Amino acid sequence: MATTDLRRFRIVGAGPTGALLALGLARQGHSVDLIDALPRQALLDRSRAYAMTHSSRRLLQRLELWSDLSPELTPFTALRLDDRATHQTAWFTLNDLNDANRKAEAIGWILDHRPLMRLLLDHLEQSPRVALRFGVADNAPFASPASVSGEWMIAADGPRSSLRERSGVLYWSHRYQQGCLTAKVRLRGAEPFTAYELFRPEGPMAVLPLGEDRYQVVWSAPISLCRDRAGSNSMELLSALTAILPEELSVTELLDRPGAFPLELSFAPRLDRHRLLLVGESGHRCHPVGGQGLNLCWRDVSDLLDLTQQLRNGVLTSRALPRRYTRRRRLDLLGVLLATDLLIRFFSNRHLLLLPLRRLALVALAQLGWLRRLSLSAMTDGPGTLLRSLPE
Ligand SMILES: Cc1cc2nc3c(=O)[nH]c(=O)nc-3n(C[C@H](O)[C@H](O)[C@H](O)COP(=O)(O)OP(=O)(O)OC[C@H]3O[C@@H](n4cnc5c(N)ncnc54)[C@H](O)[C@@H]3O)c2cc1C
Repeated sequence: MATTDLRRFRIVGAGPTGALLALGLARQGHSVDLIDALPRQALLDRSRAYAMTHSSRRLLQRLELWSDLSPELTPFTALRLDDRATHQTAWFTLNDLNDANRKAEAIGWILDHRPLMRLLLDHLEQSPRVALRFGVADNAPFASPASVSGEWMIAADGPRSSLRERSGVLYWSHRYQQGCLTAKVRLRGAEPFTAYELFRPEGPMAVLPLGEDRYQVVWSAPISLCRDRAGSNSMELLSALTAILPEELSVTELLDRPGAFPLELSFAPRLDRHRLLLVGESGHRCHPVGGQGLNLCWRDVSDLLDLTQQLRNGVLTSRALPRRYTRRRRLDLLGVLLATDLLIRFFSNRHLLLLPLRRLALVALAQLGWLRRLSLSAMTDGPGTLLRSLPE
């Protein structure tokens, strides 16, 4: 078997998706040019925390980054799901994980953006196969396949991808009326190692542990309300938050400047065009309910790395790779996009006809272990893995 088919990849966008993909490709022996419009410091400076699932853990372990990140990861061993309109609650615990994931002793982890990006950029800077160009926007006209022969282009430039637009890839997008407010806060009264997902008529709210009494709040609501709340003074925001949390929780301090973001459901039916591949949010975007976003992006990375490894080993041709990539990602992407959209439609209202169904859904989740295991498996490894067994 040939093992010398090494390629050059030009990745536009050094967010968490582009940076991790660059590292994975370099580790396989490929050459990588990684370009981002932002300077290095701005790439680190995003105030955001990610909820990581087991699919992301597996990828980080495969790239030998997991143990370096461990001190920065806050595990949660319980997930409380509340429907605030029907007053029903369901708990997910470690017992609801499937066997392959139970050994990791967490349902998921919360990871801050900054230590993640610092680790990725440090490794990239040390790699002889990676050339970094930060503070330079890529706005060149999309090159024809002939003029880039031998080189692969990767659009990892996020939801507003200009590379995707320049290349003419079909893209479908629906803007939600909901937006989301993110804030880091101190919280009193929370159960230790517990994450909360609260369904409220105006939109879901996630409360994610960051260690000790610090939490990240991701609060969905009509976008105008999010903007008003983000602009309100901190005392008003703290009391508004405390008023809607379960009664044993209270917010004692705001730790950063809240941000308000529009939300959308977006999807490129094909993730390839000639030698261009869309990876991460340049190819899809979903509602943050259930913290799926970055995990979905990293499953793009994981699947693409499987294929580039096959390319390197000579068991996949360059011609077959783009279609194979699109085909391999389709079920997972459609499943997550559809599931998050349905959750929002089902729970973000007070529709009288839906309330009994919602009550039933929560009661079933609270009482039926197999249903919790099935839902957690789909959430943590993607709906595609319901049909196949997981790697150890
Ligand atoms: C409020 C909110 C909360 C979220 N919470 C979670 C969560 O809890 N868990 C989770 O998994 N996900 C979460 N997400 C989603 C997560 O932030 C995204 O999935 C993730 O940032 C996508 O990474 P990316 O690298 O694909 O894109 P981005 O992070 O958007 O990175 C794109 C990069 O491309 C660069 N770029 C753009 N255009 C150009 C150009 N022309 N030339 C060069 N560079 C360019 C940008 O500077 C940027 O650095 C959340 C998102 C939001 C909005």
